[in-house]
Amino acid sequence: MSEVKKIPFTIIGGGIGGLSAALGAADSGREVYVLEQAPEFGEIGAGIQVAPNAMHILDKFGVLEEYSKNAVFPQRLVLKDAMTGEELADLDLGDAFKERYGYSYSVVHRTDIHKVLLDKCREHENITLLTNHHVEKVENKGDSVYIECEGGLKYEADALIGADGLKSVTRKNLSDDEPICSEYVAYRGAIPIEEIQDLANYDDVIMWIGPYLHLVQYPIRRKELYNQVAVFKSFHYSKEKEHTNDWGTPEELEEHFGKCVPQVRHAVKFMETGRRWPLYDRVPIENWVDGKIALLGDAAHPMLQYLAQGACQALEDADFLSRKLKEYPGNEHLNQAFKEYQAERQPRTARVQTTARKWGEVLHTADPIAQLMRDMYLKKHDSQDYSEVEWLYGYHKNSKNLV
Ligand SMILES: Cc1cc2nc3c(=O)[nH]c(=O)nc-3n(C[C@H](O)[C@H](O)[C@H](O)COP(=O)(O)OP(=O)(O)OC[C@H]3O[C@@H](n4cnc5c(N)ncnc54)[C@H](O)[C@@H]3O)c2cc1C
Repeated sequence: MSEVKKIPFTIIGGGIGGLSAALGAADSGREVYVLEQAPEFGEIGAGIQVAPNAMHILDKFGVLEEYSKNAVFPQRLVLKDAMTGEELADLDLGDAFKERYGYSYSVVHRTDIHKVLLDKCREHENITLLTNHHVEKVENKGDSVYIECEGGLKYEADALIGADGLKSVTRKNLSDDEPICSEYVAYRGAIPIEEIQDLANYDDVIMWIGPYLHLVQYPIRRKELYNQVAVFKSFHYSKEKEHTNDWGTPEELEEHFGKCVPQVRHAVKFMETGRRWPLYDRVPIENWVDGKIALLGDAAHPMLQYLAQGACQALEDADFLSRKLKEYPGNEHLNQAFKEYQAERQPRTARVQTTARKWGEVLHTADPIAQLMRDMYLKKHDSQDYSEVEWLYGYHKNSKNLV
């Protein structure tokens, strides 16, 4: 039998959530281990939107300058009707926005944001990064946490953060819930911008919306690549087929988007059809903490991506956790630190999770009356009216627990 190795404060998962949690925990003076299942740390080849509430945290972690070298800072968020081509609303991301939130809105290639966090972790003398560690079991041992990995490696950690994503093994200690399939799938693709130049908009994040579908487009990596995400509801989904490739197929993608205006129809031809992402979330749970175990990022609050906030919320988690770890140095009061972390973060992220679902219903409605009312409301929107997004983007400025 292999022996149990003692390790310090440990994080499972080296995604955006896990790496930022590692930086936050290391900043509290702790020694930190990150256990990642993959043979290499990395992210998939698509874009991500990073709003000011998360830009603020990149700044706190000392990576904003490096991050900004590859990011793009769009001028507007635009909603367009995918069936008529009409612009329905926009949000101005210019000077008034920056002044209000203290930071710009940005879009970036996932590998670029992941890399700046990874490089910062590698530089940090308190952080040990281990790959090829697929955690199979996590157990609360009161004063410590027992961890078992595939292949028989065993550890006893001072504490553990489960940042192991949607299908979190850590979460099984806290809830017997399962990811909920939305019946929507996403196809993604980031292509050299010159290949799509006539269809690309270099300045804006554009979301084309229609019944049961939407398409998001924006430039990334210094505007060298154009990122597109096409999302639709599959009419061939069933519970039995859920874990097969028999629903949400490329043929359905073509069928759905074939009804859209030519600009959208053409753009979708550039999607990578070799891989699709079925879209899942979970219902918020109240409890993220078990002794010296806590959840973070998608493991704690997986959400549909319609508000573009999943990774931003993981960064917010990491920042608040860091604050609590600094307030409670040493190992003795970690359970208290985790409980206070949960008290702040659970309600906030539950609101983002549930709002993302509702926003998805509004965007994708096929009911003509609901569409009419939605569009009337959107068209009245002033592009410098930030009241609807204040709770989301202004968290770092407005939350009484952060100032
Ligand atoms: C189509 C789409 C678009 C999105 N757009 C945006 C956006 O614009 N803005 C935004 O903020 N968010 C967006 N998101 C959400 C965002 O991608 C996620 O919320 C974010 O990546 C979560 O990070 P995480 O580190 O918590 O989890 P993950 O990224 O899932 O990372 C988990 C890590 O844990 C590892 N792991 C898992 N299980 C184990 C195990 N048992 N043992 C060891 N390691 C393990 C995995 O290999 C992985 O590295 C989008 C999501 C989708 C699907």
